[in-house]
Amino acid sequence: MVVSKLDFEIAKGKSFKVKIEKMQDELHSEYIPHTVCSSDMYKIARKNICTNPNCKFHTEFPSSDDTKRTFEKLKNGEQAQETFEKEHIDNCKKLDSMTFKVLGSEPKDFDRTRIMGCAYVNPVSTKGIHYQGYCLLWSALQGEQAISVSHARTGTEKLGILTVENGIMYLYDVAHTEQIREPKFDSSKIDVSVKTIGIAKAWIESLKPFDISVIESQTTKNFENLANGKPITTEIQEIKEEIEAEELFAVETNDKELVEEN
Ligand SMILES: [Zn+2]
Repeated sequence: MVVSKLDFEIAKGKSFKVKIEKMQDELHSEYIPHTVCSSDMYKIARKNICTNPNCKFHTEFPSSDDTKRTFEKLKNGEQAQETFEKEHIDNCKKLDSMTFKVLGSEPKDFDRTRIMGCAYVNPVSTKGIHYQGYCLLWSALQGEQAISVSHARTGTEKLGILTVENGIMYLYDVAHTEQIREPKFDSSKIDVSVKTIGIAKAWIESLKPFDISVIESQTTKNFENLANGKPITTEIQEIKEEIEAEELFAVETNDKELVEEN
């Protein structure tokens, strides 16, 4: 189960909800090919029968000769009328999965909000042409510029950024512009007063610096405790309704210690 509304916990018993919304779509969501019944163009559904209740293939499985392929809808939103060979549909998605195609260069401080994933890029050997090539690429990436690439490593088209950070070469998979959804909330409508800024600043300054490199997984700790005969008990928390925002962010020393314990 994916939860999209999370409580932002300032301290025990002091929280408010925020909504998490998907930022990027999978590629090619505008064209979704599917199989149709050859007798009436009705969609062959998951159970591999025709979705038309009046078709003979609604109760029996059609053979592959009794099916064709078309799209869910076209880019302009219209229902597709034509059918296409499976091979031709597959060819549209068939990209060279063995090759990075260099598209150009871009600054290393590229837009972080486009990142979909991250992987290491390492040499395949420690000598010979592949190693020399890797070393040259690594050297080229010492400056301010990263390299934009396209690839199909996982079988589908991907846009990537190759870069070196702290001596390590990384491949970031990034979203094509068409994959990025419009933000749903307009932050220019937030009314910021001197008072709210003061409260918010005091709160963030009260937090201790966090070191992401040393944090351990809570799930792993829970399993360790369980293995050591200390099963965790779930604590249900009473959330105080109708709390003032200022009250939420006014964190006292006691509450801070509770946060740190968790
Ligand atoms: Zn049918």
